Amino acid sequence: MNNWENPVCDYCKNKEFRIEIDNITSWEYKGIFRIVKCAKCGLAYTNPRPKLSQIGEYYKDESYWKNMFSNGKNEDALRTRDIDYKEIDEVIKSNKDTGRILDVGAGTGDFLLRYKKDGWKVEGIDLDIKAIKYAKKYFDIELKQGDFFDFDFKQNSYDVVVLNNALEHLYYPVEAINKIYKILKKEGLLIVNLPNYNSFGRHIFKGNWMALQIPRHLYHFSPKILSKIFKIAGFRKIRVQYNYFSQNYYILFQSFRYLMSPKFKKGEKGGMAKLDKSQNLSFKKEIGKLLFKIVSFGLALIEQNLGRGENMIIYGKK
Ligand SMILES: [Zn+2]
Repeated sequence: MNNWENPVCDYCKNKEFRIEIDNITSWEYKGIFRIVKCAKCGLAYTNPRPKLSQIGEYYKDESYWKNMFSNGKNEDALRTRDIDYKEIDEVIKSNKDTGRILDVGAGTGDFLLRYKKDGWKVEGIDLDIKAIKYAKKYFDIELKQGDFFDFDFKQNSYDVVVLNNALEHLYYPVEAINKIYKILKKEGLLIVNLPNYNSFGRHIFKGNWMALQIPRHLYHFSPKILSKIFKIAGFRKIRVQYNYFSQNYYILFQSFRYLMSPKFKKGEKGGMAKLDKSQNLSFKKEIGKLLFKIVSFGLALIEQNLGRGENMIIYGKK
């Protein structure tokens, strides 16, 4: 049975492409992957890609949220959340006082939790039933399970919609943005947080760029193309920020690790594995690690001011 498909570009529906990065090996999964660019509009996407019925294979239990949250011991995770979401929170709070907020790809609901405490009406969807149960049990947040397109959201009904590291996982991201535009109220805000395909790191590391996350990331957006997609959907006051320092630094440093360590490329530990402090690295390797940290730190500081950060937050108003 063929579990792979060759998609057409979700923006212009064109099927012609040129190969962008070939022979990519994942740090987690067996196989060779490829990223192509639409010959017409330049949008980059994973091609071929696993069919929707197969993509679950690539979302194994070692997920990000499970490394963070465990059995209700949430304090550290929630502190990390406050740092991780600081930039997104600032965008929302400088635009809205309160209202109805939808989180697409809500995970454990940790992002929504603070908004709930602040009196917002919070809603979220996710595919992961375990994350949804966690949200209910520990945060008393009722999330819905399913794909974004499974739901009939009421038009003109949300003040804010957030996609936090989610858009690039969708099979039809451009259609999703068009749909979100319709369900937002007038003056409503769409905020998308995701890797920047035009970052310094992506150009330096190419197939070893940690944020490629192939084959789970199906689309790879540059700020230019994503801004255009927002604009065509109808959004105005579109802004892109690259000031997500912790993400910029993390992606750069992990990319160095993938590049230098065959262990990570083969995926024996998985890319999200924390550096084991007890591992006795040789003096040479310790120096190498320190050097990567310094370079990553410096690059992360510079790139955010040049619009080349590893991560971008893009938002627009209806
Ligand atoms: Zn295209």
